[in-house]
Amino acid sequence: MATRNIVKRGEDVLAKKCRDVTNFDDRLWTLLDDMYETMKAANGVGLAGPQVGILRRVVVIDVGDENGKIELINPVVTMMKGKQHELEGCLSVPGLWGYVERPAKVRVKAQNRYGKEFEIEGEELLAIALCHEIDHLNGILFVDKADQLLTQEQLEERK
Ligand SMILES: [Zn+2]
Repeated sequence: MATRNIVKRGEDVLAKKCRDVTNFDDRLWTLLDDMYETMKAANGVGLAGPQVGILRRVVVIDVGDENGKIELINPVVTMMKGKQHELEGCLSVPGLWGYVERPAKVRVKAQNRYGKEFEIEGEELLAIALCHEIDHLNGILFVDKADQLLTQEQLEERK
């Protein structure tokens, strides 16, 4: 495993739509392992392919709950329920946070690293992470959706 460079806002790759993964091979597994290590090293709770410069529909998430590490290949949201409005950040947008409206609960259908289909449901932070990371696969950043953006300084003033 190795950490990869995290692409920052302003680079084209973050604004592009990703293609489906079709090969469930060791190249994919290395990518997933590297993404997880990169996310953990940066203290993140989710990372999507474009954030390491790969335009494929690949996501890793770990919000520190009982699900542990979640790997999503070709994820699709199949159900959304309710609303929540919470503060979000992104490893590709350092130093900026924003309030984004997200569903309170989502269900996502995806494939695992071997190509097997499964479903996962998330509420609270996991619902946010699922939506935030799937947005990345469609070239959308949280700052595109946030109704209020805050710098580190502004965030601290509010405490
Ligand atoms: Zn992000």
